[in-house]
Amino acid sequence: MTARRLEGGPVAAELRQGAALAVASLAREGRPPGLGVLLVGEDPGSAVYVRSKTRACEELGIHHETARLPAAATTAEVAAVVDGYNRRADIHGILVQLPLPPQVEAERVLCLLDPEKDVDGFHPENVGLLVQKRPRFVPCTPAGIMELLRRSGIAVAGRRAVVLGRSDIVGKPMALLLLHADATVTICHSRTRGLPAVTREADILVAAIGRPGLVRAEHVKPGAVVVDVGMNRIADEGLARELGGDARMEEYQRRGQLLVGDVHAPSVSQSASALTPVPGGVGPLTIAMLMKNTVAAAVRAAR
Ligand code: NAP
Repeated sequence: MTARRLEGGPVAAELRQGAALAVASLAREGRPPGLGVLLVGEDPGSAVYVRSKTRACEELGIHHETARLPAAATTAEVAAVVDGYNRRADIHGILVQLPLPPQVEAERVLCLLDPEKDVDGFHPENVGLLVQKRPRFVPCTPAGIMELLRRSGIAVAGRRAVVLGRSDIVGKPMALLLLHADATVTICHSRTRGLPAVTREADILVAAIGRPGLVRAEHVKPGAVVVDVGMNRIADEGLARELGGDARMEEYQRRGQLLVGDVHAPSVSQSASALTPVPGGVGPLTIAMLMKNTVAAAVRAAR
């Protein structure tokens, strides 16, 4: 079997189209949506993510602005920026780019966000609403994956789903969304024993661990749907060849690194029925869902 490629691009484009219509309607009413971004430090990965997100805002006509603080910023300085965005009527969504430097108390900062502007869905109030199946803002990556499954015609109800990873950003909300869609859900993590035997039970396997190529054919039941959330930049030529194949070696030579997922695509694509590529799978959905959530926040504020 060769797995069907579950591309995120077309689904992301549909989501953006929906968001663009809502932006136009809000703009006509004189209430264009606004996203306030906070970037702390110089992490190049974070800077790339912020650029992609603000570019998406521009394409849709969403007002955006980015506050930048140095890597040595204190919790109080970060909190002051959040407070400023909280008070602004023209800012409907706030994005605190993670990770924050170690001296900044990230949990405290996320608790300071106005829950009505928490478009990443990380504030405890929004987490609680999600747990109770009364979602307001759902974390963008898992929400995007549910859209991908739905729009790709992949049934979830009654099926066995295994989520590999238990982070607050991806693993836990992913498991909740699959549960709410009536899957029977198992969550695995670094202390799970006999991992391949557990993941092999999955009809739908979501890998969100940040370990390049860890999920191999032995982890996957033949015919399973595999969603690869991992975004790992590798700079090892042998590993790049193994995970990316000859087809991506020119890219590796040019950039000196390669973006790969948590799934060993060459082997898994032989047994899975569907697999999201990296790049081009989950990544575009995350940004599209952020746009959708920002527009939803502006609509809620206008009510
Ligand atoms: P994270 O906070 O580091 O969490 C990783 C999770 O994986 C943890 O629960 C950890 O278990 C588990 N884990 C690590 N090694 C494992 C192993 N060998 N076996 C089993 N479980 C293992 O990471 P995250 O923020 O959830 O992100 C996960 C990946 O997704 C990263 O590559 C990240 O870059 C990517 N990501 C992509 C997008 C996107 O838009 N495509 C968005 C967000 C994240 P413990 O809890 O026991 O430590």
